[in-house]
Amino acid sequence: MGETTRAVLITGSTSGIGLAIAKAFGAMGWRVGVNSYEPAAAVESILNAVADAGAPEVRYFEADLGDASASARIVEEAIAQFGALDVLVNNAGVQKVAPVEDFPIEDWNRIRTISLDGAFQAIRAVLPGMKQRQWGRIINIAAVHGLRGAPYKSAYVATKHALVGLTRAVALEVAELGITVNAICPGYVWTPLVERQLEEQMRQHGLGREEVIRTIMLAPQPTRRFVQPEEIGALAVYLCGDMARSITGTTIAVDGGWTAK
Ligand code: NAD
Repeated sequence: MGETTRAVLITGSTSGIGLAIAKAFGAMGWRVGVNSYEPAAAVESILNAVADAGAPEVRYFEADLGDASASARIVEEAIAQFGALDVLVNNAGVQKVAPVEDFPIEDWNRIRTISLDGAFQAIRAVLPGMKQRQWGRIINIAAVHGLRGAPYKSAYVATKHALVGLTRAVALEVAELGITVNAICPGYVWTPLVERQLEEQMRQHGLGREEVIRTIMLAPQPTRRFVQPEEIGALAVYLCGDMARSITGTTIAVDGGWTAK
């Protein structure tokens, strides 16, 4: 199978990191499946941007992954529409900042469902085809918070640690089958998700906007700058090349040196 005929599905890919990954695959000539919960009409310009990046085919899979079974459904739809799915990127994720004793149960459940249960169900749906073709790549977008703790982010930290565990377990199950499974662990990347959490962080820590950026977000990141979404896109593409076939079951931190400490 030539590289140009390959197909990728990225969950939560109308914004931020997911969109950058979609464009990076598009630029390499891959067919790209985009997902979010918004109706197709609302994301038309985003799909056009992925096509403009170079994707010969862009398909949209509308689904709210707050229902974890929806992730399996969109994988099945993508397989039906593309004919096969070579790469799955479990990227959809949400954040909530609150002390653990006040952490709303519904936010705990929603964060876990979207990031962890959704990834589990999508992986179950995509693996049979990959096993049959003896080729596949699964990338889970975890976070530096899958490797390190942080206050007021109990659900996010717990979920991302679990996603790293899921990555390792599945990688071992399929290691001999030409399928790799890896977790990318970004530090702070400037995206709408980070913009949205600024206010919660300001409230919880009693700090101003610039202070949150400087002391909470960039202080643990030795490069003292936000990671750009495109950096994650380029790494995802690299992991899907044949030269990355020995990279599996690992966590790759893109964190400006955070975890070097
Ligand atoms: P973002 O808010 O910019 O984008 C999230 C995307 O997911 C959007 O396309 C949104 O529509 C989609 N989405 C959200 N809820 C959904 C749902 N219920 N169903 C379907 N789609 C849904 O966020 P981002 O910063 O690009 O984050 C993407 C991933 O990267 C997340 O898993 C996040 O935890 C992880 N991450 C982000 C950072 C960061 O600093 N931005 C750092 C480490 C990890």
